[in-house]
Amino acid sequence: MPAESHASHLRCIDCGASAALGYRLQCERCEGLLELVYDEAALARAGRGIFDHGQPGAGLWRYAPVLPIADPAHRVSLGEGASPLLDCPALARRLGVRRLWLKYDGSNPTGTVKDRSSATAVGAALQFGFRATSVVSSGNAGSSIAAYSARAGLRSIVFAYERASAPKLLHMAATAGDLVIYRGVYDDLISVWDRLVEDRLFFDCGASRNAYKQEGKKTLAYEIAEQTGWAPPDVVVAPVAVGETFIACHRGFAEMARLGWIPRAPRLVAAQATRANAISRAWRDGGAIVPQSIGYTVAEGLAAGKPGRKGDWVLRILRESGGVAGDAEDDEIVAAQSLLARTEGIWAGPTGVATLAVLIRLLAAGALDRDSAICAILSETGLKTEREPPAREGRAFDEASLRRLIEERLAAGSR
Ligand SMILES: [Zn+2]
Repeated sequence: MPAESHASHLRCIDCGASAALGYRLQCERCEGLLELVYDEAALARAGRGIFDHGQPGAGLWRYAPVLPIADPAHRVSLGEGASPLLDCPALARRLGVRRLWLKYDGSNPTGTVKDRSSATAVGAALQFGFRATSVVSSGNAGSSIAAYSARAGLRSIVFAYERASAPKLLHMAATAGDLVIYRGVYDDLISVWDRLVEDRLFFDCGASRNAYKQEGKKTLAYEIAEQTGWAPPDVVVAPVAVGETFIACHRGFAEMARLGWIPRAPRLVAAQATRANAISRAWRDGGAIVPQSIGYTVAEGLAAGKPGRKGDWVLRILRESGGVAGDAEDDEIVAAQSLLARTEGIWAGPTGVATLAVLIRLLAAGALDRDSAICAILSETGLKTEREPPAREGRAFDEASLRRLIEERLAAGSR
């Protein structure tokens, strides 16, 4: 029998007012963001063994008890989640930290962490009777929402960033019901689009407000806990554009700590691109977020300069839980991408390795303890990276010249 969802109601993160489970995007009293609340007494009674049911490859829905989709018929899946938590001793030595894990979410069906939130977003669209979905995307969310909408038989209208990489555009064009390329950056369209959400023409698959969508990413925290034998790392580094992944991870770890399933929640690090660092700058300055007008960053998925109320929520979590924020320049992100590929054989995209680049920077600055066990979330595959490939100058060989070349290369040692 499919597991029951223990979601009980929605609660305003600002004034604490409760609301019934429904398609609501903000508090009716104060317009604050809403978060999902679960019957934690029931979860505590069931214990963490509650997740032992389900078929391998069933995707996110192994965690159905802590997700907000009640009817199993609405639990759309492409086999997302269950991504590897890779112990990386070579890279740990290189960075000078005691232990380093990488949670590689590029293994998801569309190559990104977004598949976790798309599963619950599209599930919620079905739950609330919508026939169409829409999202404003820099690339990853667009292909993911489009794929899950197609899987669920829903119409999708995807708005894609004009500078999205070619592989991302190809993927969106293939899966979206309608693909519309927008001019400017994410921030330019999202405020207008967010207002249209109110008209209920489509289900909100954006990152600004939807608690149901965000909740899917909470499974990152649950997987990290399970993969470390319910003893999660001291520090978890999560990427932050508007903050969905970061907030969801925090929610997951806090939930497990309250239930006594893990000894304590890890310290969270918010990782941004320096070219879109409104949150990390506010954290450093100790003030409020000052919206930025941003240009291009290689970490396309982090290109948001106006994180809105979600950004405020991230800042609040950082300040209340003793978290850390940091950012990395584009050249540092590209260098981290190559370092990761050579050192551990992991090819993650620039958006995905921004966490690693930020971690390297924070370690160098002494902002994190090198004696910690650290996990960085790599949010996307490198296979959608667009860059000039190596020069295609073919060479002809005979056996002797081939032998000579191989012997010379081996004698030269490794890079
Ligand atoms: Zn409120």
